[in-house]
Amino acid sequence: MWNIFGEGPLNLASPDASPSLHNDGMHAWQDQALCAQTDPEAFFPEKGGSTREAKQVCQLCRVRDDCLRYALENDERFGIWGGLSERERRRLKGRAV
Ligand code: SF4
Repeated sequence: MWNIFGEGPLNLASPDASPSLHNDGMHAWQDQALCAQTDPEAFFPEKGGSTREAKQVCQLCRVRDDCLRYALENDERFGIWGGLSERERRRLKGRAV
């Protein structure tokens, strides 16, 4: 079971959550999340840690757009979502306003 989404076992609001965490069963696209098949820790690197590995996985993920949209709409603060870091998502949101 994932928990990058909401109150599931893997809560994205928690630094311990991982994107395979991107699934609480409420969003069909989460079933296709490629990160579920990888090391979830790569999606929640320590401060200053590399995001390269996670972003490479996201590049190949078929639900990347859905994932990014979800993160933007839910103001996800931690981790890599849709191939973007928190800072990159903030920047993107700022441009969209
Ligand atoms: S885009 Fe990245 S973080 Fe989002 S579901 Fe796909 S692999 Fe996971």
